[in-house]
Amino acid sequence: MKATGHMVFGFCLGALITADPLYTIIITAASPLPDIDHPYSFYGKYNPAACLMKHRGHCHSIIGSIMLALPFIEFSINIFALVFIACIGHLVADRISSSFPGKWPFKIKVW
Ligand SMILES: [Zn+2]
Repeated sequence: MKATGHMVFGFCLGALITADPLYTIIITAASPLPDIDHPYSFYGKYNPAACLMKHRGHCHSIIGSIMLALPFIEFSINIFALVFIACIGHLVADRISSSFPGKWPFKIKVW
């Protein structure tokens, strides 16, 4: 799934779980974040180490989602939680679009 699809999924997810438009915008903006391991992705093109990372590797896991959201805890615990939710939404969207192998929801990769 491309960044636009992840952002649409993130927008819908944000609109479902929160009434605050700012929180919805944060989830929408953070939705493509796990693809930071792909050198031509929305955020990955700003990651100089992306070409060394395996796409849909550790960034597409629960611990990877925590690690991606961890820098945002400096702003607030709410922002951290929103970015984490956006990353989990990304994993679900990848599984639904079947571009990401696995037997969701029975097999969620932890690491
Ligand atoms: Zn992905």
